[in-house]
Amino acid sequence: MKEKHLFYQLNRCTGCQLCVMACSLAREGVCGEKESLISILTHPQFGTSQPLVDQSCMWEECDARCVEVCSPAVLHLVAQEDWGRLMANPDWNPVPIVVGGKHS
Ligand code: SF4
Ligand code: SF4
Repeated sequence: MKEKHLFYQLNRCTGCQLCVMACSLAREGVCGEKESLISILTHPQFGTSQPLVDQSCMWEECDARCVEVCSPAVLHLVAQEDWGRLMANPDWNPVPIVVGGKHS
């Protein structure tokens, strides 16, 4: 399968965790952080949040449910031909990847 990457919009993640629940439900049929390939980091003092993704998300056959449920439209799943366009846009950043994480 072709590699794909999640991108996110800086400073727009609310930390709602809906993407985490959606991924775990689609993958394993349960709502759980350990079954999800996406996780959310929230700063304990400032409350700012951002997504992180397990390396295996790149090759996972999925319907991008995380993107679908994100109501502020923070996430975008991008195929290789569009990586350059997104990288050139200061509003979008690649979601950092956890290499050797729980599902690798
Ligand atoms: S793109 Fe697919 S595998 Fe990756 S976090 Fe979203 S739902 Fe999960
Ligand atoms: S990426 Fe979207 S769905 Fe996930 S926690 Fe942030 S705002 Fe919520």
